[in-house]
Amino acid sequence: MLDILRRIVQDINATRDLSEALNLIVVEVKAAIHTDVCSVYMTDHTRGEHVLMATDGLRPGAVGKVRLKLGQGLTGLAATRAEPVNVDNAPAHPAFRYIAATGEAPFRGFIGVPIVRRRKVFGVLVSQQREQRKYTADEESFLVTLAAQLAGCINQAEIRQALERLDDDALSGTLFLEGVASARGLAIGEAVVVFPATALDRVPDKDIDDPEAEASRFRQAVAAELAELQRLSERMRLLLAAGDRALFDAYGLLLSSDSLVNGTLERIIAGNWAPGALRATVLEYANIFAEMDDPYLRERAADILDLGQRLLDRLQEEQVVNRHYPDHTILMGEEISVSQLLDVPPEKLKGLVSVRGTGTSHVALLARGLGVPAVFGVSNLPPGRLNGREVAVDGYTVRVCIQPSSALRQEYLKLIAEEAELSRGLQHLRDLPAETLDEHRLELHANSGLFADIAAARNSGVQGVGLYRSELHFFLRDRFPGEEEQATIYTRVLRIMEPHPVVLRTLDVGGDKPLPYFPISEQNPFLGWRGIRISLDQPDLFKTQLRAMLRAGAVYPNLAILFPMIGGVGELSEALDLLRCSEVELREDGVPVRTPRVGIMVEVPSAVYQIDRLVRMVDFVSVGSNDLTQYLLAVDRNNDRVAKLYDPLHPAVLLAIRQVVEGGQAAGKPVGVCGEMAGDPASALLLMAMGVDSLSMNLGSLLKIKWMIRSIRYEATQDVLAEAMRMDNAAAIREHANTFLDQQGLSSLLRVGK
Ligand code: PEP
Ligand code: MG
Repeated sequence: MLDILRRIVQDINATRDLSEALNLIVVEVKAAIHTDVCSVYMTDHTRGEHVLMATDGLRPGAVGKVRLKLGQGLTGLAATRAEPVNVDNAPAHPAFRYIAATGEAPFRGFIGVPIVRRRKVFGVLVSQQREQRKYTADEESFLVTLAAQLAGCINQAEIRQALERLDDDALSGTLFLEGVASARGLAIGEAVVVFPATALDRVPDKDIDDPEAEASRFRQAVAAELAELQRLSERMRLLLAAGDRALFDAYGLLLSSDSLVNGTLERIIAGNWAPGALRATVLEYANIFAEMDDPYLRERAADILDLGQRLLDRLQEEQVVNRHYPDHTILMGEEISVSQLLDVPPEKLKGLVSVRGTGTSHVALLARGLGVPAVFGVSNLPPGRLNGREVAVDGYTVRVCIQPSSALRQEYLKLIAEEAELSRGLQHLRDLPAETLDEHRLELHANSGLFADIAAARNSGVQGVGLYRSELHFFLRDRFPGEEEQATIYTRVLRIMEPHPVVLRTLDVGGDKPLPYFPISEQNPFLGWRGIRISLDQPDLFKTQLRAMLRAGAVYPNLAILFPMIGGVGELSEALDLLRCSEVELREDGVPVRTPRVGIMVEVPSAVYQIDRLVRMVDFVSVGSNDLTQYLLAVDRNNDRVAKLYDPLHPAVLLAIRQVVEGGQAAGKPVGVCGEMAGDPASALLLMAMGVDSLSMNLGSLLKIKWMIRSIRYEATQDVLAEAMRMDNAAAIREHANTFLDQQGLSSLLRVGK
């Protein structure tokens, strides 16, 4: 059954539109469970109907015509209950409804399985049998498993269909796709799709101007691969038996055969670029082989895919170097890496869209740092088909609009201009303090990690850098940077910001931030070896970093050091010991170090409960609300499936932060917040009301938050907080805080993303 299931899903993914996909489903399912009828009803929520969309066994003329009211008949019952309805004699069931148009009178056995995705019923998969038949538990599970997979496939097929409509009539169509998280802001530009260098099935189609040149590029790749196979075969002669070497000969034969090479060339001549043409041809042939009855021939499908991959790698070697970025680039992909993002010249990068990831993934933080609007977790985005299309990124509604109509384009351009206007209008706040109308002050700091944003921070009137993510420099290298190299970086950062404080966070890798040259393979990376745990286990690396920081601090006095992921007193003592040890050693080496201010991040729940002890050991505390939320709510901050559950305004998170603030106050030590919530108006309002001393955020949010603070009375925020702390869910708390901001005339702050 598993094989059949896999094949059906694979076949559906290869279809071009929804109706082809549905027709294929009904035929294949009917054959798989040996039944008389298989049909798919799709639920049209706007009209309140289940519509028969495909059938194998009922009258073909009924397709599109038979419409059941929501909940009507046994099909409707499966949809309303969102569970399978399996009855051996349908007409005897009280919910049965006779519909003449389907010609279904003679059918008795009935099973309807809802097609559900993310809590929403998309339709019902129905099988029927002329005689009485109770579908077995195995058959029911098969249909349930298939339906669960179909929801995603149907959604994809719908998107593909919508894209084709856009191709037919570029101006009238508009396709919106929703994400789960964003970096706020609006952008419009041309999609540039990036993909992992090795994924053949994810290569996009792309139009080309010079098919002849592309064809010759492909021929060269084939010739080079043939020569390489020849060479490999020769070399293996000494190592492998003849039978084992047959693979190379088979590959050589495949490459010399007309089908694969000519099929690709034909597609290139028709206007597709070589990688896209290769993908289409290879998948077509691999599918043919995969369906063969002979097990030996079926196995050859894997060889074809492998060979296709090798050819693609060859084609991509030059492609990577030659990537062209248009002036308004919207970077798009299944998953965008930090280096792919940094590969785009900053002045050209206008937006970012990715299938995976959430608002607190590393690349999202970087996008925010650079002020680039982004939408993440667009699970039904088909990047392969979007290269070169115009795309609008709306980080406020967390949506992407593919090929906006001219009216919509105008609307987006107007909003983008308004945004720029608002931010210009806030410039006069640059050098004013973040102080409420009744003179309560707090400090606003910037989150940073690159030279580009640190220079911008200096010019935007911030009172310091509250979080410098030192690991970003580690990502941009192919090995650990040495003490000298790091000292140069940190000195430069301190010099740019002087006399304002700079909080350098020690290396925080692991979790979602593995270093390419320090691979960590774990089942549960967020609960594994990350942050300070790595630093303590690798004192060599840790001390190199601490020495580099201290050397920078010897030149400029504005250094503070922050330890990430502290989980308890023991870890903090060890980290402090190593810091002291580095200080002593440097002094012994003749470096005149100053003892810096030292702080901890509170992002592990255990640190909340030990805050009274921990805070006495350091000079300040910084709440890392991104991780604290993830760990308190047990919601992976990078998993778009559970992104709806991730909300730092959850009452439990607010209670934890309040406890930390109270702990800091009792010990007379300042408490700041440097997670993403610091830059969100509703959250910042509540944090200020709790009495945090500083908020550290990306620069894009800074003046807006300052504007908010300067427009309200601290006294009034106390009531808002008191009421919020009595509420039992994040949505109500956000609504409550936003209503207050609205009443204060700050509604233009409220176009908030997720
Ligand atoms: C946090 O966890 O809130 C934080 C600021 O650290 P990072 O996002 O880099 O993990
Ligand atoms: Mg963190």
